[in-house]
Amino acid sequence: MSARLLLLEDDPAIARTVAYALERDGLAVTHSLLVHDARQQLQCTRFDLLVLDVGLPDGSGLDLLRDLRGAAQTSAVPVLMLSAQGEEIDRVLGLELGADDYLTKPFSPRELAARVKALLRRAGHGNGHASPAPAAVPLFHDDEPGQRISLRGQALPLTRREYRLLSHLLRGAGRIHSREALLAAAWGDDSESTDRTVDTHIKTLRAKLREVDPGREYISTHRGMGYCVDI
Ligand code: CA
Repeated sequence: MSARLLLLEDDPAIARTVAYALERDGLAVTHSLLVHDARQQLQCTRFDLLVLDVGLPDGSGLDLLRDLRGAAQTSAVPVLMLSAQGEEIDRVLGLELGADDYLTKPFSPRELAARVKALLRRAGHGNGHASPAPAAVPLFHDDEPGQRISLRGQALPLTRREYRLLSHLLRGAGRIHSREALLAAAWGDDSESTDRTVDTHIKTLRAKLREVDPGREYISTHRGMGYCVDI
């Protein structure tokens, strides 16, 4: 399992760089811009480590840290605090409140990643390298008897036609499938269906895949030829 990390940081540029550096190391990063959102995330998910900024638009990361240390469920989760330059008082307070480590901005994402890994190691997460996601969860899993497909471990809410379409595309991943071939595979002899039907279903399929994995397009269009799943 990937180690799960919550990043509370209101500066989008810093958050992006940090998330990128940590995800490259195989960690699953959830990002919150506000203390309020972080609290909600913490209610429904167990995180292996928290990276908390101090100054947030709706409060302080230090207040959140204090509350976390006071709650049985989160009293031991490793916390790394981030703060603005020159805020020595934040550093002292953070450590007093039970932060495990501290970084002052600006910091290098590599340094942060190294500190995070050290904290995870200390907390018993192996060498700090989470196993790469594909080894733990297959990208696509096609449960043919159950007519269900999951992407990154998450079941896709597919209609029967969408299931048959995607299943066919996945079996021939990397190959271009003509609309006629896809019609035959997913609709059989239904003479009501046309090429447009395929296009419409591909569109909804793409939207459903994007819900799970917004960062990637899995189905490519090949003009005049058809569709292809690239994995
Ligand atoms: Ca801030």
